[in-house]
Amino acid sequence: MSSASRISYDDVVAWVRLLAERLHAEKAYLTDLDSAIGDADHGINMDRGFTAVMAKLPALPTGDVGAFLKGVGMTLVSTVGGASGPLYGTFFLQLGGGTAGKADIELGDFASAMEAGIAGIQRLGKAEPGDKTMLDALLPARDALRGGLDRGDAPAGALAAAVAAAEQGMLATIPLVARKGRASYLGERSAGHQDPGATSSHLLLKAAADTWFQA
Ligand code: ADP
Ligand code: MG
Repeated sequence: MSSASRISYDDVVAWVRLLAERLHAEKAYLTDLDSAIGDADHGINMDRGFTAVMAKLPALPTGDVGAFLKGVGMTLVSTVGGASGPLYGTFFLQLGGGTAGKADIELGDFASAMEAGIAGIQRLGKAEPGDKTMLDALLPARDALRGGLDRGDAPAGALAAAVAAAEQGMLATIPLVARKGRASYLGERSAGHQDPGATSSHLLLKAAADTWFQA
């Protein structure tokens, strides 16, 4: 969909649209994961938030990548309860801050914005790597993306590496004992289950890779 290495405003909207569709399709799966170690609402929360984003789409700013992503973040903050609403809301607000005023961006701009978004999640939620949260998918993805860009990989390859790292990080949450969020109330019993938030974070990056830099 994207030409060459630019990610246009329309590409960013297409990413969020595909993510909303996939979160809707995976609503029961994400909720099942959360029923094992949480309160069985992660799919419901994510679908509610992104359904609200889609409903707001016509009213969100057009042409400005950053303003659009900020609109997504504000919608998530105001419509999603639970831990994930403010955390993903902050992520998108920070993505928007890093891309403000731009009609299109490069993957390097997205990588920088994603770094700011992850820092926002960390400031708010105070989770560390290995705490069995969304960060266990996002942090390896961030590093793989930056590594790919630094090596001079083609955008599609760098993004694919980020998705693969997110997937590995997501799967690596299975044996972990949760130290943040509701799952931490279970202590040792949280081990043996995949973290719902790491799973939605993988979906988020996969939707970007399936939208951008396609031939
Ligand atoms: P809640 O736990 O309030 O019901 P959700 O079920 O929507 O909210 O989201 C749960 C997910 O949020 C977890 O699987 C985890 O990935 C993520 N999460 C919880 N607390 C934190 C935190 N402090 N930092 C990062 N992610 C967190
Ligand atoms: Mg929950």
